[in-house]
Amino acid sequence: MIDRRVAIVTGASRGIGRAIALRLAADGRHVVLVSRSAGPLSEVRSQIEQAGGAASAEPVDVADAAALGAMVERVGDTLGRVDVLVNNAGITKDGLLLRMSTEDWNAVIQTNLTSAFAAIKAAARPMMKGRWGRIVNIGSTSGVVGNAGQANYAAAKAGLIGLTKSVARELGGKGITCNCVCPGFVETDMTASLPQQVKDGVLNLMAIKRLGAPDDIAAAVAYVTSDAAGFLTGQTLCVDGGLTMC
Ligand code: NDP
Repeated sequence: MIDRRVAIVTGASRGIGRAIALRLAADGRHVVLVSRSAGPLSEVRSQIEQAGGAASAEPVDVADAAALGAMVERVGDTLGRVDVLVNNAGITKDGLLLRMSTEDWNAVIQTNLTSAFAAIKAAARPMMKGRWGRIVNIGSTSGVVGNAGQANYAAAKAGLIGLTKSVARELGGKGITCNCVCPGFVETDMTASLPQQVKDGVLNLMAIKRLGAPDDIAAAVAYVTSDAAGFLTGQTLCVDGGLTMC
């Protein structure tokens, strides 16, 4: 059993998940870094350790629900605790509904939604044992207001909101909170290839006239997973520069 609280962060190799991992490590958590690619994970791990933090890397494809659940259980067994779970890994496979293949629908639901179900199911037991837990699902404003060309992605992200509320109700009595943090437009690999015209259109709709940075989302996750946020559960927190004001 280690002293530091243990936080599992999926999709921690880059972008928003990497920023969340660095922030939680700076806040004193032992961070378990998850993504498919071992190389980038060990770079993030080294960065955390060089800064005096603690981390371990678990290369897992979150679309493989059984492997993901087994990894979370293994972390609970070997480190003796799971305190924080951030379900952040996500993909897009955009396209208009009439042209969207069933494969692209299933891939996005499996990676973005079913993975969260599997990880929460496995993390719930060690959290209940510790009578303290913080679960955060990274949704999207697309899941709140919808987005043309993203039927699969918006459905998965909206599904995360329902999952969040149900888990919050089921586990609240055990000292475990569950919230959904929904980024708006954040500059990462996921949004890098979008045309400037699209970015300008989004900026136009935002109250704060800049695109989001991964650290903006990490700051929200740091609060939601803190001791101070023990009375906050079942919420959908849109961190989007005032894009939706959901
Ligand atoms: P990136 O594409 O930059 O990073 C995605 C991360 O998820 C990577 O670490 C990737 O690692 C990991 N990942 C993807 N698929 C899998 C998989 N099958 N198994 C394990 N890990 C996987 O995305 P962002 O950082 O931009 O997005 C992070 C989250 O925030 C996502 O859930 C996204 O939907 C959400 N979001 C992002 C917004 C934005 O504007 N950027 C807006 C709203 C929501 P690897 O490839 O190494 O496996």
